[in-house]
Amino acid sequence: MHSLTKDELRELYFQYGENALRELGWIRSIRSEVLQPGVKITDEIGDVRDLDDPILNSWYVCPQCSRAFHHSAIVMKPPALTLEHVPPESVGGNTLVLTCKECNEKAGTRLDSQIATVQRIRDLLTARRSSSRRKRPPVSGQFFIDGHPYDADIESGDGSNRVYLNLPVVPGTPDYDRVSRYLESEAPKEFRFEIRLDVDFNAERVGWLRAGYLAAFAFFGYRYIAHPDLKLVRRQIAQHSSAVIPHFSAINPSGAPNENRIWWVDVPHFPMSLVIQMGWRLVF
Ligand SMILES: [Zn+2]
Repeated sequence: MHSLTKDELRELYFQYGENALRELGWIRSIRSEVLQPGVKITDEIGDVRDLDDPILNSWYVCPQCSRAFHHSAIVMKPPALTLEHVPPESVGGNTLVLTCKECNEKAGTRLDSQIATVQRIRDLLTARRSSSRRKRPPVSGQFFIDGHPYDADIESGDGSNRVYLNLPVVPGTPDYDRVSRYLESEAPKEFRFEIRLDVDFNAERVGWLRAGYLAAFAFFGYRYIAHPDLKLVRRQIAQHSSAVIPHFSAINPSGAPNENRIWWVDVPHFPMSLVIQMGWRLVF
């Protein structure tokens, strides 16, 4: 099977978005003074009005920040509209939609990095090999032998984790003697491994909310994200440390790593009741 290049993928997602905007009549309504790439067309998606431009009539609106981008945004180097992995690449996601470069990069450093860190911890705890295609460096920590800490790296693998110890190898030094005495002694041994990873769990949860939002956008398009309720979701994504929406995520421990689904919720019924499952994480 021919797999698409990044340029072809960008073109494809751009066309999806553009066709949807055209169907909704929004393309006609994008104002001519915003013919600069990256100009925000409106405070909120779905609130655009009037005027038509017959020549530069080719648009995509970033689903996160509502800014309109002309087709040149995917041709310029580097592109102003970028391929977005949903869920993030660190948890095995695939490219699914276009978002603008700023939204993509901001989410990458603030939100997706936290998703990647939590995933690393999960991989270690469950001794599962990284679900990312990219090889990740091992997690550094300290391994305690007889109460003394030694630097070590730990790598999660298939069913077991490997610890690489950075042991003193110079005979005659106190460290060397202590370690060899301890390893050779008949006494029952106790090992302890400590890692320290800083995680911002708010950012992590909002990262999943954003992934779910983009998945729903990929599936239902602008008509879905133009619903007034979705303003709150965009605001929560923009302000990840404040509780704009009190509850929006849950965990399904038995969710298979690559099980991605969108559930339509009948009861309780709100105008937009969706549950998006991405592996073990649910957002709604
Ligand atoms: Zn954006």
